Amino acid sequence: MAYKVLGKKELSALFSANPDKYYKIALFDKVGFQRHKCIHCGKFFWSLVDRTACPDHEAYGFLGNPPTSKRLDYIDAWKEVESFFGSNGHTIVNRYPVVCRWRDDLYYTIASIVDFQRVVEDKVFFELPANPLVVPQMCVRFNDIENVGLSGRHYTTFCMIGQTCDADAEGGYWKDRCMDLDYQLLTKILGIDPTAITFVEDVWMGAGAFGYSLEYFVNGLELGNAVFTEFEGSENEYRTMKHRIIDMGAGLERFSWITMGTPTSYDCTFGPVIDEMMSKTGTMRDKEILGSYFRFVSNALERTEVDLRALKSTFAKEMKISFEDLNKIVNPFEAMYTIADHTRTLLFAISDGSIPSNVGGGYNLRVILRRALAILERLGWKFDLAEIADIHIGYLKRMYPELEEHVNDVRTILQIESNRYLGSKERMNSITSSIKGKKQSLSVDDLIRLYESDGITPEYLIESGAIERIPQDFYARLSELHESHHSTHNLKPITGIEELQPTRLLYYEHDLMTESDAKILTIVENKYVILDQTIFYPRGGGQEPDTGDIEGIKVLDVTKQNEIVIHKVSSSKGLLPGKKVRIRINPRRRDLITKHHTSTHIVNASARSILGPWVWQNSAFKDEGYARLDITHHSSLTREEIEGIEKAANKVVRQNSPVLINTFDRIDAERNYSFRIYQGGVVPSGQVRIVNIKDWDIEACGGTHVNRTGEIGLIKIFRTERIQDGVVRLEFVAGEAAIDYVEKQENQLNTISRVLGASKEKVVESLRKSVDDADETKRKLRAIVRKTLPSVMNSIFKDAKVISSDGIKLFSIHDEELGEDYYISLGETATQNDPYLIFVALIGKGQGVRVITFVGELARKRIKAGDLAQRLSLTLGGSGGGNDAFGQGGGKFKHKIRETISSLEEMISQTIGR
Ligand SMILES: [Zn+2]
Ligand SMILES: [Zn+2]
Repeated sequence: MAYKVLGKKELSALFSANPDKYYKIALFDKVGFQRHKCIHCGKFFWSLVDRTACPDHEAYGFLGNPPTSKRLDYIDAWKEVESFFGSNGHTIVNRYPVVCRWRDDLYYTIASIVDFQRVVEDKVFFELPANPLVVPQMCVRFNDIENVGLSGRHYTTFCMIGQTCDADAEGGYWKDRCMDLDYQLLTKILGIDPTAITFVEDVWMGAGAFGYSLEYFVNGLELGNAVFTEFEGSENEYRTMKHRIIDMGAGLERFSWITMGTPTSYDCTFGPVIDEMMSKTGTMRDKEILGSYFRFVSNALERTEVDLRALKSTFAKEMKISFEDLNKIVNPFEAMYTIADHTRTLLFAISDGSIPSNVGGGYNLRVILRRALAILERLGWKFDLAEIADIHIGYLKRMYPELEEHVNDVRTILQIESNRYLGSKERMNSITSSIKGKKQSLSVDDLIRLYESDGITPEYLIESGAIERIPQDFYARLSELHESHHSTHNLKPITGIEELQPTRLLYYEHDLMTESDAKILTIVENKYVILDQTIFYPRGGGQEPDTGDIEGIKVLDVTKQNEIVIHKVSSSKGLLPGKKVRIRINPRRRDLITKHHTSTHIVNASARSILGPWVWQNSAFKDEGYARLDITHHSSLTREEIEGIEKAANKVVRQNSPVLINTFDRIDAERNYSFRIYQGGVVPSGQVRIVNIKDWDIEACGGTHVNRTGEIGLIKIFRTERIQDGVVRLEFVAGEAAIDYVEKQENQLNTISRVLGASKEKVVESLRKSVDDADETKRKLRAIVRKTLPSVMNSIFKDAKVISSDGIKLFSIHDEELGEDYYISLGETATQNDPYLIFVALIGKGQGVRVITFVGELARKRIKAGDLAQRLSLTLGGSGGGNDAFGQGGGKFKHKIRETISSLEEMISQTIGR
């Protein structure tokens, strides 16, 4: 998004030039805070005592010496905050999901204010469910992963206490009251001496809005930051917002930490998790060394970006112990802190409907999950992440009771992903060993294939030594690949229609209208007709457009550009601007598309009920002949799961439930129906059209729908496929299309029974017999191969070409008729008989190619059959492998067979040398 924003410097200059107006709050005068300028960095700050430097340059004075009157663990710290703001007129709002479904520019909720921001056409709107409010918002950030567990204060998930207020709405207040409250919380509730508190001036800017802020520090630790968003616009042209927003964010982890003064904030954040891990692993705590080590690290990291390894060795020297001994004491704790953090993030993300995958934010979840598993493995620790998740839930449920509902979901996903990690590690090892030490390297295409189909990230390939670095264009190519799903119909915008009034959408007013009058407003390029009103549904939300005619002239395509519907016609003959015309849509097509659309909602909810709460619509396509729904799910569907989904869907059809369509204010829709409504993505408007299939599914959707589910008649899933890691595709038919499908199946069954010469009832039995017969035929084939082999062998040895000075021979063949069984028998026997022989068969099979390779015993010293199969398969657009003697594989580029055969000799010669 292209926001024109001010630079931080310009903003600072703007506000600092007038501190009395912007930064000086009533509290400062009342208590006697004075403004100072930092001698090191020039920042301005406010304090009760004379200071020359801002807190950025101050050591963590609270470690081992907390400045508070109370000692509060994580949950108790929240309970204090909650009761303080509650008794001061604030509504306590439940946390929002950590998966940010209401913004399409974010995967995760990264700050408490994000809960209340909605983006429409690049502009941010604030929508507060109460005023003023406080929310304990779990926030997820992956930008500092390498410091998590090591620094004492970095997390991938942390709780941001969000004190949020619309200053100009009922109940609102502005900066004086805000800072009064925060100051009271610090001094009266936590008992902090006011002289320990420093307020630092700062600025904040966001999407089209900006303001100034006061960060507050105690003993060198930043506890919170109160942002006063007052202006919108740009530097040269800005105005005061009609609704000024206070966004005070404070880290709960830090609130607890300042009251406990433990060496790391992890020690007071994770409740019993660390102690339980210590007893599971038999780890002992060397209090003295750990305490001083983490104090040392905290202070060093607070001031500058430092290399942790270097820090460690400095510390070891100071303590007069060896680097290794220090690591022996510190490493297990770094490991436990990291595992505790990563598991907690997974717990929240999975509970809120996300899963580790290669889709969107799932990527980061997989990274941290595999990081945690790798640590367990490295240290030889024998416990499951699910056990740790359970301890987290037990501790956090006083604050987040909803976590308990998802115990089993979290278990399931962690189990599946742990197994997958072991599986892909094996695959990675075999890839690594076949790649390592060779001139051949993996191309970007190979990397993308490994990533998309096996979830093997290039980061892991680096770790395992298979590649040295990630090719520069890898991520660009990857995102291109995923963008193309959405932008297949991105037509060039049509110009000259900007001034027209929005088209009146009759298909929303009368859903059964198939004919109407309309007036032509304009015709662009003799093929795009714009009407004042239309019954044609334009392509959108995965729903295909209507076809039909305007005054008998065919409408080929219908699209929507902003508020205007564009009808592409086969010719504009007889159509003139200003003319009244009769328009008609194809009613059967509309009817089928509509049934497919409602079915998509039904199947989506069925899949969620059968598979689990992580099922979300990833994308959907609704056409006349069929519908396609891609859902987020971890594995291929089993036969039972598919049947379960279909049964549940048809049950809803039989119940003939009403499909209710109403438009709501977005804030009400979200509150009443939760963010589950955003299955088709974010709705970029203040009004949301809600499609409610009673007692089954509620989604925000702009498509056409049946009035009652019974109209659908039947839903039949005819294909499912795991199209990429984390996404499963379901294809199905509904209504008359489902009846047609069943009829076609029936016809096929009839044909099969005719071919088999059996009645339909006995067709299975008869088919089984045919399969047995086919097996028998194969056995016979093998016998024929054995008997005719001597003569075939002779021709192989005659045709094989000597390709090296020491007598290595190559025989290659391309065939479409005899199957791979034949060539496996042949190649095996041939290479047993001639140790110098390399045998290659490329067998055309359906759309693709099978690759069979054998290498005789002496030739094996120079080239391995598995490697040869792998290289040939890569050339043919697939993958392969094998051992030294025998390799196999395949690819999808059938058109490359000839080219591959002709370059074969060159390829092998390069490997073995002449
Ligand atoms: Zn400073
Ligand atoms: Zn829909």
